[in-house]
Amino acid sequence: MKRIYFDHNATTPIAPEVLAAMMPYLTEEYGNASSIHVFGQNAREAVEQARTSVAALLNARPADIMFTSGGTESINHAILGTVVAQPGKSKHVITSAIEHVAGLDPCEALAKSGVGLTILPVDREGLVSAADILRAIRPETVLISIMLANNETGTIEPIAEIGKVAAEKGITLHTDAVQAAGKISLNVDDLGVDLLSISAHKFNGPKGIGALYIRKGTQLSPLLYGGHSERDRRPGTEDVAAIAGMGEAAKLARISLTQESDRIRNLRDRLEQGLLGRVPHSWVNGAKAARVPNTSNLTFPFIEGEAMVIALDLKGIACSTGAACSSGAVEPSHVLMALGLAPEDARATLRLSLGRQNTQEEVDHALETIPAVIERLRRLSPTYKNPAIA
Ligand code: PLP
Repeated sequence: MKRIYFDHNATTPIAPEVLAAMMPYLTEEYGNASSIHVFGQNAREAVEQARTSVAALLNARPADIMFTSGGTESINHAILGTVVAQPGKSKHVITSAIEHVAGLDPCEALAKSGVGLTILPVDREGLVSAADILRAIRPETVLISIMLANNETGTIEPIAEIGKVAAEKGITLHTDAVQAAGKISLNVDDLGVDLLSISAHKFNGPKGIGALYIRKGTQLSPLLYGGHSERDRRPGTEDVAAIAGMGEAAKLARISLTQESDRIRNLRDRLEQGLLGRVPHSWVNGAKAARVPNTSNLTFPFIEGEAMVIALDLKGIACSTGAACSSGAVEPSHVLMALGLAPEDARATLRLSLGRQNTQEEVDHALETIPAVIERLRRLSPTYKNPAIA
């Protein structure tokens, strides 16, 4: 059976060029980037080249890029590091209800230790309003952390607008751009952010490596202590192979961004429109907002998302009910609940996220398979059989 992978927001395959860029540092070039000898120099050169490529993807200065172990660490560092670095006893953080748990959980942990926390609601499309941010600001607000693109719906938040508010009030702004990098063009100055988090495995790089952009002058405490790497901001011996892989992935993403995003958008739209046309009682969440080109979040009422994922997996199609981290959980997605969906509709939702290797043939095959699976599951569904509801 040919397998089709529509779960690129969970993770992506490593591009062949990325693997090739990593291989020397997993084999003969095994130096420690902090060593003085030639082995060390070669490793250092790879790290600095990768830093330049990652910076170019964000239109940032290489010196403002810090490598981390991935999106989760970057986001935790941005949030916890900002709050620790700010003087004063009374502190307040603003975030949104649709953040990834990598952003929500550190904020909740801070709240438990006495930091003020405002979790802003979103509208029906999943968008945070800059006016709501302005209203939520207090004299003791030290951080605004709002994601750039949502991992479940793909909707793009108005970060540039929020950036203006943050700059006017002199408050540090962080954005979780994990689902935006490699999908839309990024410019830290246009966005007006002080801190921005990305993760390589979401754009055809390796897992376990990410970066935090730190605008020069931003107050940020380290999370870890124990050495001088990454300009004293993050100790520990660098994972040179992973960093080289992230650099190559950033380079590929930047070169192919416009062309690839048009191609993927066309495939996504063909899949989405095809499903809406073939499956009665269905809709796309966040459809009216600007979205990253690869993501479609569809609700097919009367059936369970988990049942759809399992049935589709048996037919060779890999997709998700929402955030990969919450797969297996029975709770409806906090993102879809924040959009105002009823719990039973939030549970009846599929996330299809496309990537580089997907083709039109795969989309057309999915358009034959998915509606048939939904129809079969609905025939088994007691709620769908009820003519008063259906
Ligand atoms: N933020 C968002 C929006 C994500 O989608 C993810 C991964 O699913 C993360 C953060 C966490 O990134 P990582 O897997 O690199 O820790």
